[in-house]
Amino acid sequence: MFWFNRLIAILLPFVPKPVMKIVAKQYIAGETLEQAVVKTKELNRDHLRVTLDLLGEDPGSKTDCTGALRVYERAIEAIHTGGLRAGISLKPSHMGLKLDKQFCLENIGYLVKLAEKHQVFVRIDMEDASLCQETIDLFLSLHYQFSNVGIVIQGYLRRSIDDINLLGDKGANIRLCKGAYYWETRKNVYKDPEIVNESYVYLLEKLLSKGCFVGIATHDEKLVFQSLRLIDRLGLSKDAYEFQMLYGVEEQLRRILLDSGHPVRVYLPFGKEWLAYSLRRIRENPKMVGYILANFGNLLKNIFKKN
Ligand SMILES: Cc1cc2nc3c(=O)[nH]c(=O)nc-3n(C[C@H](O)[C@H](O)[C@H](O)COP(=O)(O)OP(=O)(O)OC[C@H]3O[C@@H](n4cnc5c(N)ncnc54)[C@H](O)[C@@H]3O)c2cc1C
Repeated sequence: MFWFNRLIAILLPFVPKPVMKIVAKQYIAGETLEQAVVKTKELNRDHLRVTLDLLGEDPGSKTDCTGALRVYERAIEAIHTGGLRAGISLKPSHMGLKLDKQFCLENIGYLVKLAEKHQVFVRIDMEDASLCQETIDLFLSLHYQFSNVGIVIQGYLRRSIDDINLLGDKGANIRLCKGAYYWETRKNVYKDPEIVNESYVYLLEKLLSKGCFVGIATHDEKLVFQSLRLIDRLGLSKDAYEFQMLYGVEEQLRRILLDSGHPVRVYLPFGKEWLAYSLRRIRENPKMVGYILANFGNLLKNIFKKN
């Protein structure tokens, strides 16, 4: 499976962009905030909470970061005025972490403060391992001042046990996911999917036992089952956790959880910078394997044309 995944990672850049865009569409609300708001209303009507995420990572300049900040500002206002059951999620790199740490902290601090005024929750996404420590430092400096900010911990990361011990003791609000950056090295992450799952359950149990609110972010039914077992064993009430799923993924499982009375949130990305996010999702889509195999000959032709 490892080599198969590697093969897909190598071939994906050669999938023609129009085809990529068609597949990517299933994971994205649209290119504009207005489209994301319409989708949020639909999901809210269906009793789902929403997290709005403006797509984009690694902006080239501070001006680009400020542009993204303005969109988030409008998103917070739209959530407030529309009475939407929604929060926002942002990537530190999108807010300038790689350009200037202080600038990034000021940007995120500004949004968290604005969001606090409007009772909107801000989640700081976790990116690749090289940004983990800075992201945690940034989160902690905001967590001391604001209660409407949370962070993400990745089950595949070896350091997550230590991070959970620290953040759990501080009562942090945490989204727990497996981790999406497939190029990480074995030095930093567990490569064996079974260990990733064991790590996930271990971290989840620690967090829930410490009384932290956890966003259980997974579509893996084995993990969903383990989570339900833990919730039952610990006798948790519905305000101690929520399930979180990505827009366009496992809608049936989402419905099953919702119908059983569990709180569920959908992560809803929007914006023009859809490629990097979609590549991660397409790679995680088991059906993509079939597509790539069925079109292997055409993809090879594409590779030779490009070279
Ligand atoms: C709400 C939310 C927020 C996230 N935030 C972050 C973050 O901040 N940082 C980060 O590194 N990662 C983040 N992730 C991504 C996460 O780390 C995983 O990469 C992703 O969720 C796939 O892992 P999984 O737990 O669903 O398990 P997997 O084993 O990948 O998937 C389990 C099953 O779900 C289905 N499935 C999963 N993905 C897809 C797909 N794209 N298309 C179709 N079916 C699919 C398949 O049936 C698959 O067998 C987030 C995920 C969620 C749900």
